Amino acid sequence: NRRIVLAARPRGLPTPRDFRIEETSVPTPSEGQVLLRTLYLSLDPYMRELMNDVGPAYAPSVPLGETMAGGTVSRVVASKNPRFRVGELVLSRAGWQDYAVSDGEDLVPLGEMARPSLALGGLGMPAFTAYVGLLDMGQPKPGETVVVGAATGAVGAVVGQLARLKGARVVGIAGGPDKCRYAVEELGFDVCLDRHDSRLAQQLADACPDGIHVYFENVGGVVFDAVLPLLNIGARVTVCGVIAHYNDDAPASGPDRLPKTMSTVLQKRIRMQGLVILDHYADRYDAFRRDMGEWVDAGRVKLREDQVDGLESAPEAFIGLLQGRNFGKLVVRVAGD
Ligand code: NDP
Repeated sequence: NRRIVLAARPRGLPTPRDFRIEETSVPTPSEGQVLLRTLYLSLDPYMRELMNDVGPAYAPSVPLGETMAGGTVSRVVASKNPRFRVGELVLSRAGWQDYAVSDGEDLVPLGEMARPSLALGGLGMPAFTAYVGLLDMGQPKPGETVVVGAATGAVGAVVGQLARLKGARVVGIAGGPDKCRYAVEELGFDVCLDRHDSRLAQQLADACPDGIHVYFENVGGVVFDAVLPLLNIGARVTVCGVIAHYNDDAPASGPDRLPKTMSTVLQKRIRMQGLVILDHYADRYDAFRRDMGEWVDAGRVKLREDQVDGLESAPEAFIGLLQGRNFGKLVVRVAGD
């Protein structure tokens, strides 16, 4: 049984030395517990915040020397819990390890799935985030302009495609020409701009002649700077993430952005709403599963995964995620289906 633990708290971008792989014995389930074999491990941006001393408000940080936290698709390989049978697939929070035990409270049975890893992406948390953040909070109307960054990622790709389904015009921002081409040609975005281009602000203004009605904030940084002056009166801004800042270890240099931001929010009567997806499972998850299942089956929403092989690849892949090296929902294949 291998597990990857947090070896050191990163300063800035994590390095491989911030992680350590350890060998332990396979745990034995006690009465009421199940033993889980990890098949797929999800790698997500929020894990960077769990590596800090003080974690984000919605989750505890990972203690030094403890297994990195994370969502998994796991198979029940031994069961002393009558609610779970051996062989069953479950969604779990087993973290970055081969095996884990659970009392079943945090497990979601997955039933039979043709592609079980999708439970971590296009049929799971990131796509659910897009669904709530765009449809419930952003509320795009036909003909409106929706802008989203990290546009080909797990959340952004679904945001853009759902906005198109609702009849909106979609402008994506992504890292590099390959991702931008994919967003337009495969995902149906109207335009996609490269965030590395120094002319981004002007290009975005040109791409949004009617201004921006809905901004789905995944990124912060230069993307937010380009968006802010283009927001329309009454624009809706869903604040989902600011990945450009997760590795910041000092306040940004340059002019203070607060006055410009706040006066824009005021003058443009912006409705800005923070999103923590954990809040919405009780009310909205069933509707999401039904709608998303239909859209995916009908080919109306395309899902792209970036799978890497082997638990030992997780640290490098995660470091890559924080720099845009993933292309699609990043998943580690820990063991075969
Ligand atoms: P992605 O699959 O989109 O992967 C992350 C992407 O972020 C990279 O591929 C890269 O895309 C972009 N990125 C990385 N570094 C930077 C940088 N310095 N500046 C700008 N962009 C960068 O991840 P997810 O779809 O899982 O997550 C997207 C966002 O949604 C994140 O901010 C995440 O924290 C947030 N989130 C929030 C949730 C919530 O409940 N609030 C739930 C789930 C996700 P590119 O190369 O195209 O720029």
